[in-house]
Amino acid sequence: MLREVTASRRLMGRLPQGADLLEALNELCARENITAGEVKAIGALTKAALGFYNQNSREYEYVTLDQHLEIVSLLGDVSLKDGQPFVHAHVALGDGQGRLWGGHLAPGSEVFACEVMLTVYETPEPFERGFDQGTGLLLWPMQ
Ligand code: ZN
Repeated sequence: MLREVTASRRLMGRLPQGADLLEALNELCARENITAGEVKAIGALTKAALGFYNQNSREYEYVTLDQHLEIVSLLGDVSLKDGQPFVHAHVALGDGQGRLWGGHLAPGSEVFACEVMLTVYETPEPFERGFDQGTGLLLWPMQ
């Protein structure tokens, strides 16, 4: 089900070189008190960690890429998990041969350069993640 949200602020900026990409996005949202929103980014990483949710085992499997990569596209959302701002993002990463890697952004992706665009949403009630029996994931409520 969908809820009506209102975009209240738009922010853009750069993340520091050497930062962990996911950690830096989470810190940014905590610092700016962003509890709901949309995040987009482009840039480059010195290495990456991507998650893939195995729907049978209900566990994340990880791919680590120890190479320089372009952030062709990062798209994510911001909501609450355990009452704290939580970024869920997916990335498409390009290598030196123009090949694309992709997946769920995991800790361990190191920023070389990154430009972030954030849209902050006001919501009628908090968007809080909770355990979903059907998938085994922490998802948004259905209503
Ligand atoms: Zn994901």
